[in-house]
Amino acid sequence: MNANYENPNKNYETYLKNVPTKDGRYGEYGGAYLPPELIPAFEEITEAYNTICNSAQFISELRRIRREFQGRPTPVYHCERLSRKIGGAQIYLKREDLNHTGAHKLNHCMGEGLLAKFMGKKKIIAETGAGQHGVALATAAAYFGMECDVYMGEVDIKKQAPNVTRMRMLGARVVPVTHGLKTLKEAVDAAFEGYLKEYKDAIYCIGSVVGPHPFPMMVRDFQSVVGYEARDQFKEMTGNLPDALCACVGGGSNAMGLFSAFLADPVEIYGVEPMGRGEALGDHAASITFGEKGIMHGFESIMLKDEKGEPAPVYSCASGLDYPSVGPEHAYLHDLGRVNYKSVTDDEAIEAYFLLCRNEGIIPAIESSHALAYALKYAKEHKDGTILVNLSGRGDKDIDYIYERYGYGEKFNLD
Ligand SMILES: *Cc1c(COP(=O)(O)O)cnc(C)c1O
Repeated sequence: MNANYENPNKNYETYLKNVPTKDGRYGEYGGAYLPPELIPAFEEITEAYNTICNSAQFISELRRIRREFQGRPTPVYHCERLSRKIGGAQIYLKREDLNHTGAHKLNHCMGEGLLAKFMGKKKIIAETGAGQHGVALATAAAYFGMECDVYMGEVDIKKQAPNVTRMRMLGARVVPVTHGLKTLKEAVDAAFEGYLKEYKDAIYCIGSVVGPHPFPMMVRDFQSVVGYEARDQFKEMTGNLPDALCACVGGGSNAMGLFSAFLADPVEIYGVEPMGRGEALGDHAASITFGEKGIMHGFESIMLKDEKGEPAPVYSCASGLDYPSVGPEHAYLHDLGRVNYKSVTDDEAIEAYFLLCRNEGIIPAIESSHALAYALKYAKEHKDGTILVNLSGRGDKDIDYIYERYGYGEKFNLD
């Protein structure tokens, strides 16, 4: 067992049952800050979720979908060559890149789709920035035979053309948002407006452990399959638990999925935020590292604010990580001291990306490369031991961007 883990004298055996509270609070964070017209809609979702999460029929249907449609369980893989090269702790990956559609996001989208079906909804509404959430949701909508409206800023539509095509192939309607900066923030507002008009027939689906209650809880629960699978698989492979876990944190859904199954175990846990180009506001998206308490997008958490107290502009080379806040449960686990939040820069993440490509034959998402970059640091500092990394997605979507900016990795020392 690792020496750095201190039991903080908090009872994590019962944590998942007690957190969040009934009104969606994680210590001082969470909650639901909604326009009054939308309160009944979110209450309806909460009530439906509380019913189905205890229903044997729902659980067995979701298990069948995971097995037959998503291709779960995804494997845990021991990176022997990479571990030998780094020289230190052994590195293992939970291969969410092998989940259908190539990332962990489908885990909660299929859950949300099944919930929508249970509620008798005909349409799924969402916003998307880089388009990853939109693609996963369009996939779920096609599977369940539902309509799907994805609101997307006009700027993002141009930038993320392949994902826009994918969504349309899958039958989703991509709704361009043409006001303001024409990016994610405006898309969120427009999606809420759309939902307000149709909430009797539609459900709004959030893409991470963020937003008003019950989404942070629901998305965590749907993602926890990652952690429960990985815990069993790792024990079977090695006879032990890992010494440490590591996952990247944008909103924090892949991280909560992995972490939630290990909270009561003597395992060190690391969440990795994007430090981008540097520490100046606007050059990173390290919300926990530099943020403060605040309310945005309908929930209370730690966030990056500009001088007016509004959500600050953020940057990361990983478009799935550039969010100016973080799920309320991460803010809480940070306060409790149960999870350690670290950060890595663009260059560190891209170097890790190339090392995984060259040594293991796996092209990771740039988001996931952040987790891997921290794991490489950890491995160097821990001669013995093991670290399990959530490889949240595959990197096909990123190869053009990386090639344009980094070629084939000539500036890194990869041998
Ligand atoms: C969207 C995305 C993320 C970030 O989302 P979280 O909610 O923080 O997990 C990470 N990795 C991949 C591959 C993604 O697509």
